[in-house]
Amino acid sequence: MEIIISRYSGYCFGVKRALKLTYNVLDNSTDKNKKIFSFGSIINNPGVTEKLSKKGLVQIKDIDEIENNSIFIVRSHGMPPDLINKIRVEKKSEIIDATCPFVKKAQARAEFLSENGYFVLVIGNKNHPEILGIKGYIAGNNYMVVENEKDVDRIPDNKKIGVVVQTTQTREKLLLITGRLLEKTREILIYNTICDTTWKRQDSTKKLAADTDVMIIVGGKDSANTVHLKEISKEINNSTYHIESFKELKPEWFKNKKRVGISGGASTPMDDIIEVKRTIEKIDKQQLKMSKE
Ligand code: SF4
Repeated sequence: MEIIISRYSGYCFGVKRALKLTYNVLDNSTDKNKKIFSFGSIINNPGVTEKLSKKGLVQIKDIDEIENNSIFIVRSHGMPPDLINKIRVEKKSEIIDATCPFVKKAQARAEFLSENGYFVLVIGNKNHPEILGIKGYIAGNNYMVVENEKDVDRIPDNKKIGVVVQTTQTREKLLLITGRLLEKTREILIYNTICDTTWKRQDSTKKLAADTDVMIIVGGKDSANTVHLKEISKEINNSTYHIESFKELKPEWFKNKKRVGISGGASTPMDDIIEVKRTIEKIDKQQLKMSKE
């Protein structure tokens, strides 16, 4: 059996940067009485989340859980600026901003559109932390989050519509939604804020899915970009499986298969991908042995 790993696997630039900043704070904080907090997990990977917890990162769900005079890390998805300021002022906490520069770009574009009188369309998942952060840069209620093509019908008629998109969305969704906006207005300004790594991963996953018998997508089930990779792959290759760990691999997926592709989300460590490859190799050897017996 031939096993091919997608060319764009392992951590993306934004995740590497966020982890570097986080480990740096955890390893070098001189005041051991200062607790280190983040909203939810720094990246969407259960294994890494557990490791960071063991090193002392307190991952909270509510701002009230933050202790005064602590350190607060803004994760790669970003956060609304008002909330960051509240933590800085009310909790007297030091802020370490690990927001990915690509997310910052989407936030800045949304702010620009809002300041220049555009009705801002944010294409993405309503409850995703990145979208909640971007919304924080838009003044008032002059915006709408669009999750799918159906939502376009609910967009009020406007003179000017400005578009930003969640960094990990698919190009297909962006095209589908923006393609219908002329029904609503004559003036549209579209900022394609899908990040480079997302484009490359999606393209390479697409090619691999078309060229293999089975596709394994590795990454957190809560990771938006990993879920998109699964959807893209499944459309082309019905034998696509999304797993978080090598432990979920099932031998029957590989029976009589010749080529297997592995692709991983932006927050999936390369070690996890290699572990998956090794496990598939073992399954292959066992199946070969059984077929000879
Ligand atoms: S997927 Fe893109 S936007 Fe998200 S952290 Fe990675 S580089 Fe940044």
